[in-house]
Amino acid sequence: MWGGRAAPHPFGGANVDPVPVLIVGAGPVGMVAALELARQGVPSVLVDKEFETSSHPKLDYVNSRSMEFFRQLGIDDEVRSAGVAPEHEADVIWSTGLAGEPITSWKLPSVSQQWRRITETNDGTQPGQPGQRISQVELEPVLRARCRREPLIELRCGLRFDSLAQDDDAVTSHLVDVMTGEEVRLRSRYVIGCDGASSQVRLAVGIGEESFDVPGLPGAFMVHFKSRDLDTLHRHGKFWHYFAFRYIIIAQDEVDTWTVHVNGMEPTEFDTPPADPEAFLLETMQTDLKIDKVLLTSRWRPGFMIAERYREGRVLLAGDSAHRMFPTGAYGMNTGIGDAVDAAWKIAALVKGFGGVGLLDSYEAERYPVGLRNVHTSHRHLGVHLRAGELLRGGASPETVAAFLEAERGENEYRGVELGYRYNGSPIVCHEDAAEPPYSPAEYTPTTWPGGRPPSLLLEDGKAIYELFAPSFTLVDFAGDGRADALLEAAAAQGLPVSHQVVTDADARRIWERDLVLLRPDHHVAWRGNEAPRDPAAVVQHVRGVVR
Ligand SMILES: Cc1cc2nc3c(=O)[nH]c(=O)nc-3n(C[C@H](O)[C@H](O)[C@H](O)COP(=O)(O)OP(=O)(O)OC[C@H]3O[C@@H](n4cnc5c(N)ncnc54)[C@H](O)[C@@H]3O)c2cc1C
Repeated sequence: MWGGRAAPHPFGGANVDPVPVLIVGAGPVGMVAALELARQGVPSVLVDKEFETSSHPKLDYVNSRSMEFFRQLGIDDEVRSAGVAPEHEADVIWSTGLAGEPITSWKLPSVSQQWRRITETNDGTQPGQPGQRISQVELEPVLRARCRREPLIELRCGLRFDSLAQDDDAVTSHLVDVMTGEEVRLRSRYVIGCDGASSQVRLAVGIGEESFDVPGLPGAFMVHFKSRDLDTLHRHGKFWHYFAFRYIIIAQDEVDTWTVHVNGMEPTEFDTPPADPEAFLLETMQTDLKIDKVLLTSRWRPGFMIAERYREGRVLLAGDSAHRMFPTGAYGMNTGIGDAVDAAWKIAALVKGFGGVGLLDSYEAERYPVGLRNVHTSHRHLGVHLRAGELLRGGASPETVAAFLEAERGENEYRGVELGYRYNGSPIVCHEDAAEPPYSPAEYTPTTWPGGRPPSLLLEDGKAIYELFAPSFTLVDFAGDGRADALLEAAAAQGLPVSHQVVTDADARRIWERDLVLLRPDHHVAWRGNEAPRDPAAVVQHVRGVVR
């Protein structure tokens, strides 16, 4: 319950029952966790120590998988409207600098081109949604407005999480009103810590971290600014990212907003930030770029981190509180969105009563390996930058560096990493003994292998198969002859909500590999078969996390 405040209890006056879920941190990951809980019909209290959304233009790319989740939350259109317009391509230029020479470029498609590819290549290899270029500064207000409109989300800004204590039934969190200094206590059945890389929730539950810095890149200085000087900025062509080793430029909106990150060479280089950021930038870039206005500057320290555990009792970590990576590959928030959706549907199932405690164990079993792999993949992409810089400094020709960059490309293109992760170690997936289909970081292999994300397809009537999926579990049935009945009856008997979707589409059946495919609320395959399972009740118990 709320203590020491005149504000009414968010869920009913003097009711002392714990609220279902407290989410600490209303950054992108916390907001998505709250929205997914609401989609599942479960209320949450979402607190943030700040009153405003972030003014730091950190993320600039929401990948296809996150856009699939945004689609199911019904916010895909709003995100696209606030992001870069669909006709703009996302090319990456490598060069020795605006005052130097171009080396090579990686051509990356626009949203319109991606939609065309999705329609024309209807073989299950494509995502259901194109990725979207959008700055964190633009994305967070979209999510925030949506949270404010959602009656099941109680958003409290200006509340800082301090500490917590757990007992058998609930978690008591101690929060501080940042305006008054007053302590506020809140009891909740679960806590999701989405409070970023310096997570106080992680500290409060005593979860350690494994981290490593980047010796070749000890610090960075960011200048975010307005400029309409396209003659200078587009000297080597139009770009999304312009990589010039000493600095990178990000085109945030294809209008007039840009961010430059200057890479430090010494750990102490930016201990004293440049007094005149504009002059520093022009000197670094050796150009006479006309800057209309500097919006923001900051120093930041590149590094990698993963929490040793993702859960302690009723407290789960999601997003940067669980992992921090370098921006290469754009895996930071995108990994966090996957955490948020996974945590939210499982907690919702527990709150609604049909989920078993095995769901809590499955959270770390599923998400930790994804976080670890994405940390390593962003490190792999960063290694390409560092190695290319070494080659150049070592006197390699631009052609040699270009050949290296072409051979090692993959940043923002690794579909296997974005779409193809499989929960092979999950205790709530019905695993198979057969040989697993191949996994490649670069490509998504269309498969309904249990634990993976199923192929996205357009059906004969033009509708995307993902549009058939319910907020609850979904049984996709290509047979439609009663073979699904036993599983549906077992689910009904155990209170597991399952939407039964009969699909008559021969191509989709072939690509989906089985007649019956049971999907979870996060789309991942829980079970599949051509016949009803031998023990349908056991399958239902397993996928809803009942520990026997
Ligand atoms: C230069 C750069 C580029 C990036 N590009 C991308 C990209 O293209 N794609 C991508 O996916 N990721 C990218 N990232 C990473 C991305 O910005 C982060 O992964 C993302 O912001 C993490 O979201 P989060 O909600 O977990 O944490 P945060 O965004 O850090 O949000 C945490 C929230 O918790 C609040 N909070 C903190 N402590 C407390 C407390 N004690 N009590 C209450 N509230 C608290 C904060 O005020 C904040 O609102 C980039 C990062 C950088 C630095």
